Amino acid sequence: MPIDKRIVDLVDKGMSGEGLTEEEGAELLSVNPYTFESAHIRWGGYMLARKASGGMAEVHAQIGMDASACPKNCQFCSFAACNGLRPPKAEMPKDEVIEYAKAYNEAGVNLMCLMVTAAYDFDKFLDMGASVREVINPDMPLMANIDDFSYEQAVKLKEAGFDAVYHVVHMGEGKITTIKPETRIATMENAKKAGLKLSSCVEPIGPEHTPQEISKHIHQLMKLDPLSTGVGLRVPVPGSPFANDPHRGAIDWSFYMACMRLIVGLTPKLCGNADIAADSGANYGWAEVGTNPRDDSSHTDKTGIGRGVKTSQYNFMLAGWQILEGPSQGWRE
Ligand code: SF4
Repeated sequence: MPIDKRIVDLVDKGMSGEGLTEEEGAELLSVNPYTFESAHIRWGGYMLARKASGGMAEVHAQIGMDASACPKNCQFCSFAACNGLRPPKAEMPKDEVIEYAKAYNEAGVNLMCLMVTAAYDFDKFLDMGASVREVINPDMPLMANIDDFSYEQAVKLKEAGFDAVYHVVHMGEGKITTIKPETRIATMENAKKAGLKLSSCVEPIGPEHTPQEISKHIHQLMKLDPLSTGVGLRVPVPGSPFANDPHRGAIDWSFYMACMRLIVGLTPKLCGNADIAADSGANYGWAEVGTNPRDDSSHTDKTGIGRGVKTSQYNFMLAGWQILEGPSQGWRE
């Protein structure tokens, strides 16, 4: 069966690096991931991503410092109090956080992120961040993944040594979470106003999300001008309302990854977030220790789904990438 010419044309346009319109993005996302056309999209996404970052991939690293039940009740998340998977309070001690930070620093990650739930005390988080800042390379970008915050709090994050935040408007925000999309956007604007850089993705994508919704979400996100972006599929966490969803793997993830790269064009340079899509346009991925919203372990690196730094770097190398040495660029002033 001949390949759909319309999809070839869209991939050609995407590969020019100028990006695709919302309607064109929806057309691309409507393709069945298990088809000839999907393979062509994934090739296009990969080639464009290589052009965007000069063939260099990065591994960013997250320390999940908190396993406490979170009052924000995002139904897909293992921390959500409504899912009953986490204790009322369970936080990683500071010495363990510091050891992980030192280990990641030595392992040559390109960026480090500290993650907590909305139950975590803000001042305590600032103290943790300042302590981590002291033991990592001065040029290592430090990112915060925390609850929504005000402009004044954003300034404090910057003063504590953070360079960036990871923050998203979740797919289904306000419907399967208790957070308003406007609150999430206001937080991102607060961060940027305070001089913090933004990393933000389109996630978590579930089987019910239409190509039109996803393409719209991508375009809305690009208006916020993140320094890195990407896609994340919703992981069916056991015990959550989505536990019985089909478990979609590398082929689906790679398809969405490639579509996103073709839709956004050459910028942001970093678009990814999972090394399983390294052959379809992901040019950065995450290593994870501590807790993880996508499993119910308290040490995702040992008993959960967290990836190690070397494994992630190796997976990128297998897909033909070189690994960036030194800090991810553009985060620290
Ligand atoms: S996604 Fe974040 S805010 Fe939502 S329940 Fe999980 S930890 Fe809380």
